[in-house]
Amino acid sequence: MSKALALTALCIAVGTARAAGPDVPVELHHRLQRSDAAQAQDVAITLDACGGAYDARLVALLVERRVPATIFITKRWLDRNPVAVRELRAHTELFELQNHGMAHVPAVVGSTRRLYGMAGEPDVAHLETEVTVAGDAIRQVTGQTPTYFRGAGAAYDAVAVKTIEGLGYRIAGFSVNADAGATLPATAVAARLRGVKPGDVVIAHMNKPTSGTAAGFAATLPELQQRGYRFVTLSQTRLVPQ
Ligand SMILES: [Zn+2]
Repeated sequence: MSKALALTALCIAVGTARAAGPDVPVELHHRLQRSDAAQAQDVAITLDACGGAYDARLVALLVERRVPATIFITKRWLDRNPVAVRELRAHTELFELQNHGMAHVPAVVGSTRRLYGMAGEPDVAHLETEVTVAGDAIRQVTGQTPTYFRGAGAAYDAVAVKTIEGLGYRIAGFSVNADAGATLPATAVAARLRGVKPGDVVIAHMNKPTSGTAAGFAATLPELQQRGYRFVTLSQTRLVPQ
């Protein structure tokens, strides 16, 4: 593990994102702003569609239980999954589509930069293309300009944060990592979801249908709804640093 990644892992371990110098990618940890009583029980579920396939079981569960979610899609995933895109668009009352980049290249800038084994962007111009091309593709599908961006790997260096925000996006952090990149079994996903508290922003994945993610959500969503949580999309709320 590189020094940068070791430090990132440390930041994750202590549950905080901290300024660690301009070149070190850090996760951004956000919660929901709660400025009135109506927002007291708000929780946001965010699902990334990095590439690959479509977890139809997870989306069907959200539809069945009427749970809104913010879906971060790449242009690559969008191009490969037209049927899935139509299904999501059939439920605009539940799902909003936001920007996860063109080709799932991490938002770290420099020819030798890597994040979780993925090569970063060689320069700022490539990062701008990653963001804007995906944004244009999403706008073509939805008729709306996406307002939130989440980079591949959900960590960013300082140059990337400045570039993405300069393009008019807010970066979508999170506070509960529910499926660790869709690598966890259903029991572990369920355990993490049971720990969700009001104000949390949950990150999980909807591009790996063989993962334990959908089953983990199926095991816990009824319980979270019984607690009285109100699920919101990111455009219905504001994010604040954790
Ligand atoms: Zn991703």
